[in-house]
Amino acid sequence: PIILAIESSCDETSVAICYNGKITANVIANQTIHENYGGVIPELASRVHQQNIVPAVQQALTIAKVNKNELNAVAFTRGPGLLGALLVGVSFAKSFALALDLPLIAVNHMQAHILAHFIDDPMPKFPFLCLTVSGGHTQIVLVKDYFDMEIVGETLDDAAGEAFDKTAKILDLPYPGGPLIDKYAKDGNPLAYKFPEPQIQGLNYSFSGFKTAILYFIRDNKIKNPQFVEENLADICASVQYSIVNILLNKLKKAAKQYSIKEIAIAGGVSANSGLRIALLATQDTLGWKVYIPAFQYCTDNAGMIAIAGYHKYLAGEFVTQEISPLARMNF
Ligand code: ATP
Ligand code: MG
Ligand code: FE
Repeated sequence: PIILAIESSCDETSVAICYNGKITANVIANQTIHENYGGVIPELASRVHQQNIVPAVQQALTIAKVNKNELNAVAFTRGPGLLGALLVGVSFAKSFALALDLPLIAVNHMQAHILAHFIDDPMPKFPFLCLTVSGGHTQIVLVKDYFDMEIVGETLDDAAGEAFDKTAKILDLPYPGGPLIDKYAKDGNPLAYKFPEPQIQGLNYSFSGFKTAILYFIRDNKIKNPQFVEENLADICASVQYSIVNILLNKLKKAAKQYSIKEIAIAGGVSANSGLRIALLATQDTLGWKVYIPAFQYCTDNAGMIAIAGYHKYLAGEFVTQEISPLARMNF
């Protein structure tokens, strides 16, 4: 089958084509407008999605060399995400499917982040554990089958991506700061400064105390030396990244032990982080894990992952009707 997929849950308007299980186009229109505000402004995101969506669809069809009359289904992100942003993608998908008389496939964005692992080889074997780390979520997911997933641990407050982005904000770096912290960390000493690891029972995470610790650390040091951030940016970024990665990996190791699973994947925007990737790869030797890391273009929000999820739903015959509406919050 040939499936067109649409992603509009946050600030990326993305359209992809899946041709018999292969992603042949993955167009991502980033919204730069939010940089000026230090975070995504929902109302602005919806408006820019409206401007981007038709050109993105046309571009995806052109890249994949597919005529819209050849399509077999339309997949879209139903949730979770910003309601207004989702509404643009869902409404477009519904009208497009209605006009072309195509079946509709609703996809859960967080499941799709995980299913991005089924775009290219090597693919993880069921059951595997996936650490999904993004701008809004931090979850350890036990993946038993394509659509049989169980969250076994998650953050009680902030997401790992927020910890990166809020630290960046404290350091006066533009939004989203995660990639910048990653960049500056490359030249720094990860052991220069120590930050406390949250003491949370079980497999859950917490990042709100961590963020406050960074805030006070920077404030106190700036009192002693107003140039503290400028003079030590690389060391600060490397130390913050090292701490976040440690927190993430410690619970993941605990989960792997508890469930006796060695097939381990990461997904979501923060899985683009080089510190996390390197630390995870190191566990292949020490713990005998088989580690799966998505290609960069499938880490942050993209419609390629919606398309591959849509493909597996198509094979399973899971379609929805025109009655479907978006969900800001959505369980598996
Ligand atoms: P969700 O998927 O939870 O709804 P989202 O869609 O906004 O949230 P993603 O696009 O999956 O999130 O990920 C964006 C997040 O990833 C941002 O917080 C960003 O800072 C972070 N991120 C991206 N690249 C890196 C990197 N190299 N290092 C650290 N963080 C990164
Ligand atoms: Mg984004
Ligand atoms: Fe996402």
